[in-house]
Amino acid sequence: MKEEIQRLKDLQDVDLKIGKIERAMAAGNEKLNSRKGSIEKQKAEIAEFEAKLAEGEARRRELESEVEDAQLMIKDRQNKLMKVQTNREYQSILKEIDDAKSANRQRDDELVRLLEQADYLQKKIDDQAALCAEEEAQYNEDSGQLEKEADELEAKMAKLLKTRATKAKKVKAALLRKYEQIREKRGGVAMVGVNRGVCHGCFMNVPPQLYNELLREDKLHACPTCNRLLYNLPDEEDESK
Ligand SMILES: [Zn+2]
Repeated sequence: MKEEIQRLKDLQDVDLKIGKIERAMAAGNEKLNSRKGSIEKQKAEIAEFEAKLAEGEARRRELESEVEDAQLMIKDRQNKLMKVQTNREYQSILKEIDDAKSANRQRDDELVRLLEQADYLQKKIDDQAALCAEEEAQYNEDSGQLEKEADELEAKMAKLLKTRATKAKKVKAALLRKYEQIREKRGGVAMVGVNRGVCHGCFMNVPPQLYNELLREDKLHACPTCNRLLYNLPDEEDESK
């Protein structure tokens, strides 16, 4: 049984290394994805600003053409004013001119506001685009670096998977199944050491009787709390100390 326990320990060692590589790969991808997400968000914001800017420009052209039309109309009425016969007609045209002038003043005010808004939006767009370009450069650099790292990790992983297959073969089928079941349920850790009566899977004390039996290494025991398979972990091998 002592040998069987050692084989399972070996297998768990390899599995822990595999898990570490998997996490490193996932972390790299997550970092890259989050940067990509931030770039996309910024681009969407830029597009929104640009749409607002275009909307403002369209409104500006509309206003400018209205101002022009109104000016022509005013000129036309001013000419008419010289030829009118009655006072009533005169007053009516005068009012038309005043109204048109007042409407144009309002248009001018709006035009000023639109120009200010366009300046503001253009600045926002420029700033955001500069930030975006910086992040994109960083992204490309990171993704190149990450690709290199991923290649290395994949090479390591391929080796480990081979080692794992060899080690797994040495474990009895029924035991291996049990090991895999626990590993799946317990976050990739099926076999843990017990040091001074404490299970290193759940960090609870195992009953003294169980601990004594564990020291004999003549039977495979499971932690009554976390269900993981246990082996005795002497002080000098305990890396958490
Ligand atoms: Zn436990």
